[in-house]
Amino acid sequence: MNPLKQRIVLLGPPASGKGTQADRLAQEFVTPHVSTGALLRSECERGTPLGREADAWTCKGLLVPDELAVRIVATWMQENGPRFLFDGFPRTVEQAKHLDTALAAIEAPLDLVILLQISDEAIRQRILNRLSCLKCGATFSTSLHGIAEGQACSRCGAPLVRRKDDSAEALEQRLKVYRELTLPVVAYYERTSPAILHRIDAGMGSDAIFAQLSTLLTTL
Ligand code: AMP
Repeated sequence: MNPLKQRIVLLGPPASGKGTQADRLAQEFVTPHVSTGALLRSECERGTPLGREADAWTCKGLLVPDELAVRIVATWMQENGPRFLFDGFPRTVEQAKHLDTALAAIEAPLDLVILLQISDEAIRQRILNRLSCLKCGATFSTSLHGIAEGQACSRCGAPLVRRKDDSAEALEQRLKVYRELTLPVVAYYERTSPAILHRIDAGMGSDAIFAQLSTLLTTL
């Protein structure tokens, strides 16, 4: 199906389901899913200088510097063009301003900003039970899917791992960073482009969230 909305930002705290939903939307609407976290993890896995620089921040649950996040997104857009579903970008007001400037320069403004809202308690439960595939980005819940670390990803066969920043300590840091640096991004869009900002309750089941997102992507 062809979405009417081509430039989409998904905002939300860790484990609000941004990655899972962006993946499903990308498959349904063929809009590229761009996770800055996954791009950084891939650099890190390959041991590139950028990956090593990023790892010093990500493993502690801190954001990488804006300049680095903006650079990785600018490179992606140069190579792939201005059609995207951003998951995890922008994470600061500075990044949001950079994105607006870059899109204004090519007269291709954002179509949608969606905030996935969920309680801190639900986030803690999800993260501490989460196993991830670093190859394809799929995530699984040890409690819901009855799987253990080291088992093969059911999608691509790579071993499932607990992300370094999914530890209890790093999670508290990530929640703090989200409140202090990323929530102001919501206020920024509320101020600059309220018509494209939508909020979704991410505590609902995955299918219900997907249905609401699909409606947002396909209606004017
Ligand atoms: P995520 O996979 O979205 O949870 O991101 C994992 C980690 O990558 C974050 O905790 C940050 O350290 C880093 N990261 C991802 N996206 C950004 C961004 N837009 N700005 C700064 N750091 C980021």
